[in-house]
Amino acid sequence: MLQIRYNCQKSPCVAIIEYGPLEEAGSSIECPRCHESQALHVTAAMRDEEKVDRCAVCQCRELFIRKDFPQGVGLAVVLIAGIASIILFRSNLLLAYGALATAMLVDLGFYLCVGKVTTCYACRAEYRNGQLNSAHDGFDLGTSEKY
Ligand SMILES: [Zn+2]
Ligand SMILES: [Zn+2]
Repeated sequence: MLQIRYNCQKSPCVAIIEYGPLEEAGSSIECPRCHESQALHVTAAMRDEEKVDRCAVCQCRELFIRKDFPQGVGLAVVLIAGIASIILFRSNLLLAYGALATAMLVDLGFYLCVGKVTTCYACRAEYRNGQLNSAHDGFDLGTSEKY
């Protein structure tokens, strides 16, 4: 099932709206914060294949795929290991290097395990748990600058 996550399009409301399964959504949903109804353009590809071919929020056709990496977690692991190794360097050099190596492995593990998320260049809506569209590529700065 496809799940969408995006910021409410009605300014000044910037509530984060999460909705799923998208393939069963109607033509609009209501923002839980400002209660404004907003149009959702669920395409045939979304309903039938759980695949994003066009952004349901802004109808933009340019989307990119990125790793769904929780950056806060990765940073925290490195930070904790960094502090631990500073303390350990005074007493046990081997353990200090071990702490750093473990942190790197944990981060690498995270990186390999996390799923991928399709993101809209124009409105940054995120789509999870669906099928990846082979027409989409990784993030491209040139394309991004158009928006
Ligand atoms: Zn809202
Ligand atoms: Zn969009």
